Amino acid sequence: VTTQDPELDEFDIIGRYFGRQGLRRADVIVGIGDDAAILRVPEGQDLVVAIDTLISGVHFPEDTPPACIGYKALAVNLSDLAAMGAVPAWATLAMSLPHVDRAWLAAFCRGFFALADEYDVQLIGGDTTRGPLSMSVQVHGLLPRGHGLRRSGARVGDRVFVTGRLGEAAMALQWLQGRRQLAVADDVLRACLERLNRPRPRVEFGLRLRELATSAIDVSDGLVADLGHILTASGVGAKIDLGLLPTLAELIPELAPEHAWDLALSGGDDYELCFTVAADREHALVDIATECKVCVTRIGEIVADTALRLQCPDGSRFEPTATGYRHF
Ligand code: ADP
Ligand code: MG
Repeated sequence: VTTQDPELDEFDIIGRYFGRQGLRRADVIVGIGDDAAILRVPEGQDLVVAIDTLISGVHFPEDTPPACIGYKALAVNLSDLAAMGAVPAWATLAMSLPHVDRAWLAAFCRGFFALADEYDVQLIGGDTTRGPLSMSVQVHGLLPRGHGLRRSGARVGDRVFVTGRLGEAAMALQWLQGRRQLAVADDVLRACLERLNRPRPRVEFGLRLRELATSAIDVSDGLVADLGHILTASGVGAKIDLGLLPTLAELIPELAPEHAWDLALSGGDDYELCFTVAADREHALVDIATECKVCVTRIGEIVADTALRLQCPDGSRFEPTATGYRHF
């Protein structure tokens, strides 16, 4: 690891590593290289903007492979766009690096641009500074005017759904931190690590949900916290049937149900979508999920009583041990 690289200043880094995509979108009038980018929002579309910061040791373990850090920094942002039903378009990257490490930068960019290229996202600017390792990625997406998904539209009687399986990333993190409480098969562990390091944002499915969902959010802080945001914004409550929850218990038979529920409810880092659909539209949802090859599970129902009720298969109430990650 080089602590200082006299042959590579800030502008060399930008040109060599961050500017390598070139112009790839017609709606980018000016990209990297000027004081600011100039972008063209198409007629009849709304601009959707989200930003997320990743700090070493807080959002990812310090020894996370740099390609995974680059991938995840963009993925968590695309997940926010997916939850709004937006089509990704552009990104900016503000990065603080402790030192210049060419191999690290090359790997970071490999991960970042693999996902950017997959979704036709162009990196259109950023900022590069020296400091503790952290990065903020801002993404910009597009929506047909007035058609975004929001947290606030859930209505009493709507069904509550989640994509994928919850708790896998949290299991991987517990394992990395040595808090593993049981032996997990190697292939299951690998799958969990992949979920932690390279979450797949549900972009295509989010777009299709625009026709259908009354509310949506991406699950980044744990289901209890994130579904809680839908309930607060919509002024409703929900009854969740834990027996329906897609958890790691499907992969690890030895896992106690309470442990699997805890990971799913408060683990976080899932980047799945939680959303509500009117009861009479459930059949249409099945079609969309099939087309997008996304596994969707109904986990409960929206109710008028403004609380989140977690019900065990035996009818008793479940109290999660934590309510999701909070910075403050
Ligand atoms: P200024 O000093 O005018 O803010 P900079 O010297 O910081 O400009 O950046 C020069 C150009 O490089 C700008 O277009 C900026 O957006 C881009 N840039 C800087 N850092 C990054 C980065 N990490 N990723 C992508 N673009 C970057
Ligand atoms: Mg300037």
